Amino acid sequence: MVLIDGKKVSAEVRNRLAEETKNLKEKTGKEPGLATVLVGDDPASAVYVRNKNKTCRELGFQSFENQLSSDTTEEQLLSLIDELNSNPNVHGILVQLPLPDQIDSEKILQAIDPKKDVDGFHPVNVGKLVVGNALLTPCTPTGIIELLDHYGIEISGKHAVIVGRSNIVGKPVSMLLLQRNATITICHSRTRNLEEVTRGADILIAAVGRAHFVTENMVSEGAVVIDVGINRVDGKLTGDVDFEPVSKKASYITPVPGGVGPMTIALLMENTLKAFKDSI
Ligand code: NAP
Repeated sequence: MVLIDGKKVSAEVRNRLAEETKNLKEKTGKEPGLATVLVGDDPASAVYVRNKNKTCRELGFQSFENQLSSDTTEEQLLSLIDELNSNPNVHGILVQLPLPDQIDSEKILQAIDPKKDVDGFHPVNVGKLVVGNALLTPCTPTGIIELLDHYGIEISGKHAVIVGRSNIVGKPVSMLLLQRNATITICHSRTRNLEEVTRGADILIAAVGRAHFVTENMVSEGAVVIDVGINRVDGKLTGDVDFEPVSKKASYITPVPGGVGPMTIALLMENTLKAFKDSI
């Protein structure tokens, strides 16, 4: 069994991005800019945003931090998005979710210029992903593909089973795997005989949000197991996969923490660099 080291791979991605940013700065005199928008004072969201801004600075990106109070109105947020859309130094816009109840998240995400939509959630980019020509694709799913590629795991012709159909993980990772010529099966809460379906997987992706959901009897000998889940059990982070027994059957497996998680921020930065390059 090979343990997929997301920390190491994400550090390599960040180094590559820092190097490319430095070269582009020398050539063009410009640098990529990411604007983060945090509304309210949710502590977990604040940590996520702080990490994103910190990574920006480490890579030589410009970071534009926007912190708004929890009573911000939808109009006020839309007007900030407008400003960021027209700011030529901002190449990526990240609105940290969830937003307070008085704001319609869908409306906000749709207001972001698709060229600056580094989360890849705008309907234009979702459509492009389905067609197969998206520049900006969602970060966690793209990070999963980068992990598979890094370890030389073949995707083409393989049966990939994805448990979970969210717009953030399940659906986009399915589209990316399909684009890479996997045969895909997407499972969800109404799937019948789930164990039988997941046992047919060469590549099994768990994006359910339930600790220890994927048990040993759901996995075939030699399967590649990617655990997207982040669950807190007794104050400890744990994935969706029952790691110990499943790792004995898997050929490759991601740990939690240290697997898919670290790739998400790295891919956000990669998307910002892509948006920047597309703009020059
Ligand atoms: P989500 O929107 O809650 O979706 C969960 C999916 O699991 C749904 O499609 C649901 O099916 C399915 N599901 C629930 N119970 C099931 C069951 N008994 N059998 C089969 N399928 C079942 O979650 P998400 O946003 O995709 O996130 C999934 C997990 O990944 C969470 O733990 C989240 O924290 C984590 N996550 C991690 C990262 C990262 O950077 N590592 C990024 C994003 C998310 P229905 O559609 O039928 O309800």
